[in-house]
Amino acid sequence: MKKLVILGGGESGVGTALLGKAKGYDVFVSDRGKIKEKYKDVLLNNEIEFEDEQHTELKILNADVVMKSPGIPDKVALVKQIREAGIKVVSEIEFASNYTDATLVAITGSNGKTTTATLTHHLLKQELDVGLAGNIGDSFAKQVLEKNHDNYVLEVSSFQLDDIHCFKPKIAVLTNLTPDHLDRYDNRFENYIASKFRIVENQTEDDFFIYDADDEVILEWLQNHQVQSKKLPFSLTKVIDQGAYYKDNKIIITIDNNQIIMPTENITLEGKHNVKNAMAASTVAHLLKIRKQTIRESLENFQGVEHRLEHVLKINKVQYINDSKATNVNATYFALESMDAPTVWIVGGVDKGNDYKELFPFVNEKVKAIICLGVDNGKLFEAFGNMVDVIIETQYMSEAVKIAYKLANAGDNVLLSPACASFDLFENYEDRGRQFKNAVRNL
Ligand code: ADP
Repeated sequence: MKKLVILGGGESGVGTALLGKAKGYDVFVSDRGKIKEKYKDVLLNNEIEFEDEQHTELKILNADVVMKSPGIPDKVALVKQIREAGIKVVSEIEFASNYTDATLVAITGSNGKTTTATLTHHLLKQELDVGLAGNIGDSFAKQVLEKNHDNYVLEVSSFQLDDIHCFKPKIAVLTNLTPDHLDRYDNRFENYIASKFRIVENQTEDDFFIYDADDEVILEWLQNHQVQSKKLPFSLTKVIDQGAYYKDNKIIITIDNNQIIMPTENITLEGKHNVKNAMAASTVAHLLKIRKQTIRESLENFQGVEHRLEHVLKINKVQYINDSKATNVNATYFALESMDAPTVWIVGGVDKGNDYKELFPFVNEKVKAIICLGVDNGKLFEAFGNMVDVIIETQYMSEAVKIAYKLANAGDNVLLSPACASFDLFENYEDRGRQFKNAVRNL
């Protein structure tokens, strides 16, 4: 029996354990932290051996193959030992994709993965049997085992791509590239870029690569590297022959001689970044032969994803918007760009080496007051202090929202778009977003 060791007993680890067991592996799950009770129950019920709060090296180094969960960095000594011992290390998407013939749509990028993946799934599910997996919901491995869908839309992080070998999506989507997670890539942007582009490395000429043709980083990489698959770029600014572009409130998609044109006035998602996401998702749908009418209707009834420019409530004609998932400057850039009214902006948290310059024009033009919500707000005061009449700091969400309520007039927006990570004051971005929504509801 081949020995499969799984490092990390979370969603992807436990899913892989179930699939591995079903495929005849001798499975052992090891987690240095605590495994959640719900996952322990699954492992126990399926008679899968596991340990937590420790790693039994002898047992782990005896593996034939190791599935490393995406959260575990390569720098960890044990991972180094595993690699030095010549043991094959795979990610969950690599492992699970060996056991399905489904058509795989893999979506990666620095921002917009969840939105684009969820929207793509929404468009496809109207006419196809399709699962949504990767960094969202039930693990891909578990779905391959239990659901056996004909198609999967996978939200894929760079960490998942780091340990692929044969993973070959029929359609790969790259939403954009801005520096992120550089601590995992020796602080080198080029390493992170290379990791993201692994999404196309096993593709052949029968496959497709959809990407943002307005993204300089992507364009530069493509100038210096070969891609085997058929390229279908999308653009907000230029006419695209094969792929998608946006003009006069319409998305125009051309694949071979087949063109569809879709008006965007009634799309519920707001902001230019979401037009990009809609172009990417609709191009996938068009490739997979979803009818134009279906694509159009589904774009119009898609309700968006929680914590991403989510409209919470209108109180006294002030719109409250939760964009807690904006954990970097680029995401906040698109949030501010899409503001159509004077805005009270709640920003701050753990700074990831942010450069706020690109936000200055929007702040000058649209932001009437800034509420800094973080433990250390020095950099925000320095960057924006001279730009607005009011800049205040607090460490409490409820207070931030009350201040915003006082400062906003009828017709204004109150926007939570932090441009920073959340863990100085919150458990995670979901917690931050939920606290915002609760505070708004309590006004
Ligand atoms: P990811 O899964 O890549 O983190 P999300 O869809 O969760 O992406 O969105 C993260 C943040 O980025 C949100 O604030 C969202 O409004 C913003 N965003 C969504 N799509 C894009 C895009 N194409 N470009 C830039 N920012 C985006």
